[in-house]
Amino acid sequence: MSDSLAELYERYESVIGLEVHTHLRTTSKLFSPAPVRYGDPPNHDVHPIDLGMPGVLPVLNERVVDLAIRLGLATNSTVNSHSVFARKNYFYPDLPKGYQISQYEEPVVSDGFIDIDVEACRGGDPYRKRIGITRAHLEEDAGKSVHDSAVAGSGDSHLDYNRAGVPLLEIVSEPDLRTPEEAGAYLRALREILRYIEVSEADMEKGQFRCDANVSIRPRGQEKFGTRTELKNLNSFRFVEEAIAAEIERQAELIEEGGDVVQATMGYDPATGRTRVLRLKEDANDYRYFPDPDLIPLAIEQGRIDAVRSTLPELPEAKRARFESDYELSTYDAAQLAGSRDVAAFFDAAVASSDAAGAKAKAIANWVLRDLVQSLKERETELAGVKITPESLANLVLLVESGRLTAKSAREMFGDLVDDGSDPEALMAERGLEAVSDAGELESVVDQVIADNSDTAEKIRGGDDRPLNALMGQVMKQTKGKANPGQVRELLSRKLRSS
Ligand code: ADP
Ligand code: MG
Repeated sequence: MSDSLAELYERYESVIGLEVHTHLRTTSKLFSPAPVRYGDPPNHDVHPIDLGMPGVLPVLNERVVDLAIRLGLATNSTVNSHSVFARKNYFYPDLPKGYQISQYEEPVVSDGFIDIDVEACRGGDPYRKRIGITRAHLEEDAGKSVHDSAVAGSGDSHLDYNRAGVPLLEIVSEPDLRTPEEAGAYLRALREILRYIEVSEADMEKGQFRCDANVSIRPRGQEKFGTRTELKNLNSFRFVEEAIAAEIERQAELIEEGGDVVQATMGYDPATGRTRVLRLKEDANDYRYFPDPDLIPLAIEQGRIDAVRSTLPELPEAKRARFESDYELSTYDAAQLAGSRDVAAFFDAAVASSDAAGAKAKAIANWVLRDLVQSLKERETELAGVKITPESLANLVLLVESGRLTAKSAREMFGDLVDDGSDPEALMAERGLEAVSDAGELESVVDQVIADNSDTAEKIRGGDDRPLNALMGQVMKQTKGKANPGQVRELLSRKLRSS
């Protein structure tokens, strides 16, 4: 951050509220039987209902109601027993009906919160923070306009209605976020929850998880919020944080120059790193919302909420707390493990498989977080794409803990476990990596090294411990790294100190 920007941050506090649109995991659309698929040829998955043909009537997809309930429960929100579908009227070529069916004054979900972990930034410590969820409402997505810039000079526009009517939840946060980093952490936490509870795949690249950011600033110490602008269509986590930072800077500079922030809809250009006004902000009453006469209010009974609750998995937050208290992991490590449902399940299974044999959960956690997660990153894949099993990781950790395999050798074998699903015991034997822990064999190497380095040995005998590492290195070299370092150190000190 530049000095001038740092100074602006000192003088002004930013206030951020996010609106997230997330595609629901359904096989058909919100109000029509057309399939929801990604990557189909244009206008392949469309039904007359999605096009607003005369005489058709929308029929609510009941599956989305259960998904909305899941989201409500997972965000500590109220699932409202009564909610209303409303028409939001506006013209756009990708909206053939001339209105979008959404929810307005009475949404299906309201008044919740999620807890987020914010990484250290600007020299501070990591911290947790509770962010309010104002509401979440159901609505249909619009189609897509495709502009033919690829064909030079053509300038044609095409319309693809595959996306028209795809079910969405719009999740609106309270203006509780204070920095771009908090906004990023909130989005990650929300996406994690949506994936955990299988409400959305929330893949940003497929447009399944989109974010608009409302940003304002106020002089530090002032209670009243400043005028906000809304950044539209931020399609990557990085751009969200960059765009918010750029907008804060723009607003602060504007105010410093004596100007006023005007409520507007903004776009962010990643190439220039700047935000610009797209249009002056429309107000809610421009949309002439009214209850959709084709749809009755949505009624949700307590029994249905309870039934959905019983199908929810353990949530990331609960998992983190359990890992922390049961396995003495740091909050950070526990949160990392809990962060992906697959990785957490792998860890749980590895711990369960090693339980009887007594490998420590903490050691397993280290292997998962450091080596396994790293391997997945390198291979750009998920757990489902590799062959290592929880049992084989647990066995590997047991071999290391029992001293039969050095950590170094274990790490050398790890890639094969990941790619080929090899059995650690068999692979160790095949590669001849079993540690030299046979006391007699190791002792003779140690004796030889002491004899070959009598000067050094003499210093240690005289009370100078510093050269001990050099002798250890010699032993490790002679055993080709297969000796257990702890055992070598112990042997060396015993021999050099007792005599
Ligand atoms: P709209 O429907 O016009 O977008 P909402 O009242 O639904 O307006 O608010 C949208 C988002 O703007 C919410 O996430 C809210 O937290 C956020 N917000 C409201 N006021 C401010 C403000 N002064 N600064 C930043 N964000 C704000
Ligand atoms: Mg808005």
